[in-house]
Amino acid sequence: MCRHLAWLGEPRSLADLVLAPEHGLLRQSYQPRRQSHGLMNADGWGVGFHVPGRDEPSRWRSSRPLWSATSFASVAPVLSSGSVLAAVRSATAGMPLDESAAAPFARGRWLLSHNGRVERAVLPSSAEAESVCDSAVLAAHVLAEEPTAARLGEVVRDVAGRDPAARLSLLLLDGERILATTWGDALSYRLDDSGVLVASEPSDDGPGWVDVPDHHLVEATREGVVVTPLDPPGDQP
Ligand code: GLN
Repeated sequence: MCRHLAWLGEPRSLADLVLAPEHGLLRQSYQPRRQSHGLMNADGWGVGFHVPGRDEPSRWRSSRPLWSATSFASVAPVLSSGSVLAAVRSATAGMPLDESAAAPFARGRWLLSHNGRVERAVLPSSAEAESVCDSAVLAAHVLAEEPTAARLGEVVRDVAGRDPAARLSLLLLDGERILATTWGDALSYRLDDSGVLVASEPSDDGPGWVDVPDHHLVEATREGVVVTPLDPPGDQP
């Protein structure tokens, strides 16, 4: 499992979001607290963010552990955005270990991270996939059409139906909204006057965190968060 987060709200520095929190992504790269698969996330990291005046997000990704990213640590305090998606990676066995396999994946304005694993044979092959990594092939499938909460829920249920062992916790961001699913792993969020943070696990022990149950869909904007159940395949009429 990887760990990921998305922020939508007032501009914050990447250091403030990713590196500084006591139990944030930096700490989660070597000592996650709620990770159910894998002990640490040392196989790469990535940050994607939107800046005013640029349609497409900017990304900084690496195949190295986040704790060794000294140049990023030097620049992160002066990079700020109100729309950020970041992830640290624990590679699934057999998957490539280069930078192109590190989330976030991107298409147009969308950024996407995947916590979990999926059998690639159940996914359509796509020339748009940024890597042969399962998460990159899944990202290309999810981003093949403009994502909406309803479509994301359909895609996850459909893929889970074809690979019942798949874990499909996804996190998406387009600068205006965060979409997320819980399908085999934890997710929490915190909404306050400054914005909304959605993360695999709380980055501090402060108040306000809300845990999302498994098999749920999250749609978050600066104004609020909507959580709806995603019934497993077979539970639909
Ligand atoms: N399957 C993906 C990979 O290999 C994600 C793994 C994860 O969630 N740890 O990178």
